Order: sequence, then structure tokens, then C-alpha cells
Amino acid sequence: MLELRTYQEQLVNEASETLASGHRKIICQLPTGGGKTVCFAAITDRYTRKSAGRVFILVHRIELLKQARRSLDKFFQIPSHAIKAGTRWIPDVPAYVGMVESANRRIAKLPPIGLVIIDEAHLNTFSKIHAAFPDAMFIGFTATPISANKKKPLKELYSEIVMGPQISQLIKEGALCQNITISPREVVNRAELAIKNGEFDMEGMARTYKQTKFVKGAVEAYKKHGQHPDGSWMKTLVFNVNVDHSKMVTQAFIDAGFPAAHLDGTETPYRRSEVLRWFSETPGAILNNCAILTAGFDEPSIEMIVVNHATMSITKWLQETGRGSRPTEFKSMFKILDLGGNAITHGDWNADRDWRNLFHNPKKPRERDQVAPCKSCPHCDAIIPAGVRKCPYCGYDYPSAEEELEKDLGEFVIVTRGINVEALMAENANRKKYYTFYNLGRRIAAQLLKQIGKKGLTDERTEFALQEYYKLAQEWCKKNGKAWNRWHGEQARETLYAELMERFEWVRPEMRPHEPEPLPFKPPEPRRLPPPPEEKPRQQFELFTNTLQTLQKISSL
Ligand SMILES: [Zn+2]
Repeated sequence: MLELRTYQEQLVNEASETLASGHRKIICQLPTGGGKTVCFAAITDRYTRKSAGRVFILVHRIELLKQARRSLDKFFQIPSHAIKAGTRWIPDVPAYVGMVESANRRIAKLPPIGLVIIDEAHLNTFSKIHAAFPDAMFIGFTATPISANKKKPLKELYSEIVMGPQISQLIKEGALCQNITISPREVVNRAELAIKNGEFDMEGMARTYKQTKFVKGAVEAYKKHGQHPDGSWMKTLVFNVNVDHSKMVTQAFIDAGFPAAHLDGTETPYRRSEVLRWFSETPGAILNNCAILTAGFDEPSIEMIVVNHATMSITKWLQETGRGSRPTEFKSMFKILDLGGNAITHGDWNADRDWRNLFHNPKKPRERDQVAPCKSCPHCDAIIPAGVRKCPYCGYDYPSAEEELEKDLGEFVIVTRGINVEALMAENANRKKYYTFYNLGRRIAAQLLKQIGKKGLTDERTEFALQEYYKLAQEWCKKNGKAWNRWHGEQARETLYAELMERFEWVRPEMRPHEPEPLPFKPPEPRRLPPPPEEKPRQQFELFTNTLQTLQKISSL
């Protein structure tokens, strides 16, 4: 009999209760390294003891198939049968463990199934299985419950989610290794990369990353951050943009004198296992790939992960970085070297995440807002929580909040803080095309108000804010394939002026009431009561604001 870890016990209990409460299909979220095959076995045990039904477990890798069957047999003495390539005879047993591909072809030969457990459920490619067992209950396991197919969110198939422990908890329990994430500044600017179907355009991104300065930059970043205090180098897995880029980076590492190799999907199984053996046995080895050594690749001796590309996918970011997290007795931490600005966008690998919210509200995954905000230390480039005043890695002291705010006010760098064109576009994907374009102006005006208050707006500050808006609007144009032209400039200016006039005691120059020329001498005070203060300008102000609001509504339609 197996002693489950506390969080595993909780997850299994909660899954059983959720199914018992009437949900037929649920998602179980469990971070990689949380021991999912043990959970599969424990759930199978509970189910087969309570009912006479059979359980069908679907996995993607032969190692997991073996592990799951071992857990069933060793801890619960449940006989199981493997469904894989070459399986012909299928006996009647309480549990089947199948490879997805092979199982799809043998569905008809299986006896009735009461519960289906699917691994890597976020891949969302199991419609055949769902259709084949219309009366079965389903549990989909995944570390990142965000559908790989944006048009088919998981909540269309599954009705509830059960959340496992956070990565931070698994680190505390010693099930995963602590990380340090480094985000150097001198890397490709992700804001300048084009986006296609919700992800960076691979070809465009490869062209940028293949520039000599960035290929060499990756090696330089490794030289700077990849060395142990004793002078030895960290065993490193590098994720590149594509095969070509991966080969270039490999060569650059070799030229710099490091033991490096490249692996892609075209290698023979023999070559692949040779390279992986070399990687496992060679201290300080650097293995380059683009996307094949992700889910399921398990090499505990890895000490550093280099993410040498940008991604919009939080799943990809977590899967790649998580490759370094397997603890060993020789490893107290691993490093993540982020060369694509991913940590700032998606949060650090170990950040707590509200998966329940992401599951139920997949339409607005403003990814950077779903995790605690972080920043990169200006001195050592480490990623640290946004609120920290002293860098825990290098001791850098941040200026006090007041000092910083003053500095920001002086330089006005704050007006676009936290405004991310990419994230806004993703958030507003279902709205009209220009929604985000105009929304940027609204956000800048709102930020400005927060900083300087209703009365603080001057013409200089307006001009500064407008220039900042132009920059973001140009970025928007680039990402949407629009030429930045006079029309766009005018739209931006009109939007910002309208937003500013709505929020501030400020009137755009051409609408100010005419001021008389100053007189050469001071006239005597008139001996009468002054008119009610500012009545005229205020009416005028409201009239213009209303007109502008109407105009803006029309133009955003
Ligand atoms: Zn630091």
C-alpha cells in the first residue's frame, strides 16, 4: 500500500468528490514533478473498489505507460494491460494503460469503460476517445489547463477543475528544485516581433534571433551566468527558435570552446539516444534543440535552461523552464536564462497561478496579470518580485518608493508602465480591430491621472504622453500589419486629447477661450462683484467634452 503525499491525497479526494457531486468530466491540475502516475493509480484504485467499471489511462510516452502500470501493480495490486503498438489481444482487466495513438485504433476492441484518465489533457486532441465512450467519466490531467487549441477551450469539454499544489509548494517539499531566473536586458526586443495566430511569427522571429549579435549574445550570456563558483560550467539545455537557429547557436558554443550538440526530430533513434547519453554523462554539456525536448524529457543533471526565443504561450514557457527542476542530491538550485523577455510577461516559473480562473475564463488570459508581477534587477538581471526593495541575489538597493516616484514624475517614464500592446491585443482579440488602438490612449490618460492628479496636467506633459502613445500605437500598427501614417497619428492625438479633457482640468490649446493681450500697465480694480467663477469656460468645456466623446464613440465603431 502506498502512502500518498498530502497534496496528492487532497487532489485524489477532491477529484473523487467532484465526480461524485455530478460532474462527468473534470480537469486535474498538477505541476510537472507532482507525481501524476501515482495519482492515476490511486484514482483507479478508488474507482474500481467502488464500482465494477473499468479504467482506461491514456499517456503519451512509453515511460509513463510503464510507470503507471508499475504503480497499479506495486501499490494497489490492480492487474492492467498495455495498449501500445503491436497490441493484438485485449483481455478483460480492471485497468488499461494505453499510448494515445495506438489506443485510438483499438477503441472498438475494448470492453466498456467507466472512467477515462487522460494525460496532457491541454493538448485537446482526444475527441475520438471522448466520442467512443459517451457514458464514461473523464479526468484530464495537465500542468497547464489552457487548451493548446485557442478555439476549443477546455471548459467546453470539461465542466470543473481541481487544483493541485503550486510549484512553490513543491519546491518547499523538496519535490522540485529552487530556481533563479535571469533576464538580461540586451536581448531581442519582443515588442518588435510580429504575431501570427496568437504566437510570434516563427520565421520572422528566427530571422531576428539568427542575427550574429544575438547568436553571439546567447554565448556571452552563458559565459556571464553559466559558471559555478568553483569555475566549472553548468550543464545546459537550450531552447532555440527553429532547427536552423539551433544549429547556429550550437556552432557558436563550439567555436567558443564549449562542449555543445544539437538535436532535432529528424535524427535516427540511435543518434538521438547517443546524444542524450553524451548529454547525461558530460559535465557542462550544452544541448541545443528547438521544441522536442519539452514535455517528458527528464534529465535530472541539468543545471541551466536557456530560453533563447520569445513565446506567447505560458504552457511552453513553463514546460521548457521546468526541464531543469528535477532535484538531485548534488543540485540545490537551477538557473533559467531568459533571452526572450518571457519571465516579465508570463511570470517566473515558480510563480503561483490561479489556474481555476484561467480554466473558467480562458477568453481573457492577460497572462502577465495572472501572476504576481516581477521585475529584473538592474544590477544582476535576476527576476525578483516587483515589490522587493533589495535584490536577494546581489544586494542591490532599490531607491525608496518616494524617490522612485519622483524620478518617474521627472522623466515621465511611468505613463506607459504595465501597458503591454501584445497582452492587450490578446485580451481584446474578440473585439473590433481598432479597440486596442484606442484603448491604449485611455490607459495612458488613466495612468497620468493616477500620478499627477486632476490639476497637474500641463501642455508639456500632454506632449510627452502623446509621444509615448505614438510609440505604442506604432507598435500596434506593426503587429497588425498597418502602415503608421498621418491618419493613425491623428486618431491617436484626438483620442488622447479627448481622454485627457475628460479626466483633467485641462483644455486643448485651440479650444481655450481667447485671452486678452496683457496691458502695459495695471488697470485700476473695477469696483463690482466678479461674475460666478469660470461659468463660461466650464460650459464650453463640457460641450467640447461631450462632442468629443460622441465623435470618439463613432470613430471606435
Ligand atoms: Zn540583483
